[in-house]
Amino acid sequence: MIKGIPASAGIAIAHVFKHLIKDRSETYVVESQAIEKEKLECALGRALDQIHAIRIQAETELGQEEARIFEAHEMLLKDPEIIGKIEEGIKVGLGGPEAVGRAQDSFEALFSAMDNPYLQERAADIRDVLGRVRNNLLGQDGMIMQGRDEPVILLCHDLTPSDTAQMSKKSVLGFITEIGGAASHSAIMARKMEMPAVVGVSEIMDTLEDGTLVIVDGGAGVVIADPSQETLDSYRKKKRAYDQKKEALGKMKGLSSTSLCGRRVEIACNIAGPEDIALVLENDGEGVGLFRSEFLYMDRDSLPTEEQQFQAYKKVVEGLADRPVIIRTLDVGGDKNIPYLNMKEEMNPFLGYRAIRYCLNEEAVFMTQLRAILRASAYGKAKIMFPMISSIEEIRCAKAYVASAMAALKHEKIAYDTAIEIGMMIEIPSAAMLSDLFAKEVDFFSIGTNDLVQYTVAVDRMNQQISDLYTPMHPSVLRLVHMVIENGHKAGIWVGMCGEAAGIEALVPLWFAMGLDEFSVSPSAVLRVREQIRSFNKNTLGDLVDTVLELPTANAVKQRLRDVL
Ligand code: PEP
Ligand code: MG
Repeated sequence: MIKGIPASAGIAIAHVFKHLIKDRSETYVVESQAIEKEKLECALGRALDQIHAIRIQAETELGQEEARIFEAHEMLLKDPEIIGKIEEGIKVGLGGPEAVGRAQDSFEALFSAMDNPYLQERAADIRDVLGRVRNNLLGQDGMIMQGRDEPVILLCHDLTPSDTAQMSKKSVLGFITEIGGAASHSAIMARKMEMPAVVGVSEIMDTLEDGTLVIVDGGAGVVIADPSQETLDSYRKKKRAYDQKKEALGKMKGLSSTSLCGRRVEIACNIAGPEDIALVLENDGEGVGLFRSEFLYMDRDSLPTEEQQFQAYKKVVEGLADRPVIIRTLDVGGDKNIPYLNMKEEMNPFLGYRAIRYCLNEEAVFMTQLRAILRASAYGKAKIMFPMISSIEEIRCAKAYVASAMAALKHEKIAYDTAIEIGMMIEIPSAAMLSDLFAKEVDFFSIGTNDLVQYTVAVDRMNQQISDLYTPMHPSVLRLVHMVIENGHKAGIWVGMCGEAAGIEALVPLWFAMGLDEFSVSPSAVLRVREQIRSFNKNTLGDLVDTVLELPTANAVKQRLRDVL
């Protein structure tokens, strides 16, 4: 079994088509500068026509949103900086293909070195566009899929977005690449095309022969070469079950998350950054219930500026158009370490200087983020949420910072949503216990079961040794969740849940019966939760809440919930 990065879920079983480009650069004859320049212009013109044709094809087959990338490619081909760089090469005596190759290397390196993972992935666009120009100059084709009667699993070092868009599902059942990440455009397109794919499998081109029978399990990110009959049978069965389930769930797209008894809930998504927008939209998420903003602060060596954060938040709220986006302020500490913040080592980091405790003490960091969120709120439906609130003083203090950020923006005549909703996470038992009072301070609650379980049952969520004790089905957790929903509703505010428990199949009926208004889950769980919600009615759930809340153990709860399913 070979492990890679899961790029697009599903199972494909077929023989490998190993894609190698025959490079003709060695036989290329360099001519005078004027002729090289002329050839370059022809190659650029041809590339523009090719990309334009791909864009039209993508528009009809994949939709406007996916085709937009090729508009960006057309612009790259007209970019004076890129063209200037290639021409510079020709001026110093290089042939067209080499000049293009060098420009490609330097722009690819520039993008790859950027901090932002989204911009890093743009190196692939440079490779795609300039690789095409170079192929045109050398008179060689890019992707060739001729000569195969049977559909294949494509194996290549890298797959450009235009290669992906041109792939037909009739001839390619799935693909494996050596480089690329889950946020690369080819991965995004593979998901959109619902084509199983595993990326980032280093050196697989050396280990897999052309024609090898393989199984690609895109959801697990694994490739199995030369499977035994037993493995094949088991994956064929898995594939049938997966395809049937997917087909059934696909029908949930565009439907309302309304139960048979007529109660509508919202099924939103948990995301880590703008690169997840496509996943939310693909899965018909009704908004973002938790944007874990701390990911913008990670994998870099200094704090993101107000402008950088603003751009990221704006991208998400604009990407989600009129759907709500809850941006949670920096939740640093615990297991989320950000080295450049130089936070002291602590005996109990989960009980320590973290999240809102850090932000309320680091005024400049907090204000920068609040200003960025508020500025983005002028472009869509943003909401603010505070993590790890444990006392009334904290929420009041956090809100005072928002008021002060608003006053500053107003003074600077910078637009923001003056009616922006402000909410808090309920992830500490003290907050749950005081939820009647907190409900008067905020516009909404979002229950963070991941931490609420660990603090209620006193079980470290990271400790493998006691993982049996860590369960959201613990009766104490269920009673707290119930109390929070009741208190929220009594005060007239809505209550959501963004911990992993919101998407646990066995618990969805219970949360629904308790009256939860919003379920924020991973994008891939949206349609399954919607399917469940649409099957509920008062009679089937009956007195579920009352009976479950009387049960003494997590096992008894598990058993009762299993009966409901
Ligand atoms: C939670 O605690 O449930 C939660 C959603 O926050 P995180 O997992 O980021 O701590
Ligand atoms: Mg938490």
